[in-house]
Amino acid sequence: MKICLACNQRFDQVTWTCPHCGQTPSLKEGYLAFAPELAQASEGFEAKFFAQLVEVEANNFWFRSRNRLIIWALQRYFPQARNFLEIGCGTGFVLSGIERAFPHLTVSGSEIFTKGLEFAAQRLTHAQLFQMDARQIPFDNEFEVAGAFDVLEHIQEDTTVLGEMYKTTFRGGELYSLFPNTLGYGVKMMNTVIMFAGIQRKN
Ligand SMILES: [Zn+2]
Repeated sequence: MKICLACNQRFDQVTWTCPHCGQTPSLKEGYLAFAPELAQASEGFEAKFFAQLVEVEANNFWFRSRNRLIIWALQRYFPQARNFLEIGCGTGFVLSGIERAFPHLTVSGSEIFTKGLEFAAQRLTHAQLFQMDARQIPFDNEFEVAGAFDVLEHIQEDTTVLGEMYKTTFRGGELYSLFPNTLGYGVKMMNTVIMFAGIQRKN
């Protein structure tokens, strides 16, 4: 279901105009923007780095290996998944790999910077892209899999984000694939964040 961030009501329809209060999310650079005030500035990541990222990602062992790992995990643990949301999709490198590997999967990507979405749109063929603050995700019980890759450890309110991701996924399953930067974050830290987010860890 969709969530109206203006009145916090849930609704289930194709369009984003809230049937309860009439609010429609704005557009920023052509993308649905759920937190437009944050679309061009942040403390953790400079939007100008996106252009540099695009240059190195395709031929870099780290990004290529990480894509293989993510695709393997999706095939191994979520072979029946019909939709997938990536939080913090950046330039869309992960999503482009997922699109190729799972042509029938409905793919969505969110990014706080519209600049990242511009690069992502060039790489992707059918993903739905939108600008969003991961601390306030406008979905409830909507996606079978939600992933955030090297994202959580850069967000101060990581517990909030994890709780929001949990909220967006279908109830009753192990519906996550998370690969934080373990050098800076660590398994112990991850477990603590999961605990505070009120999520039961299965593996
Ligand atoms: Zn509303």
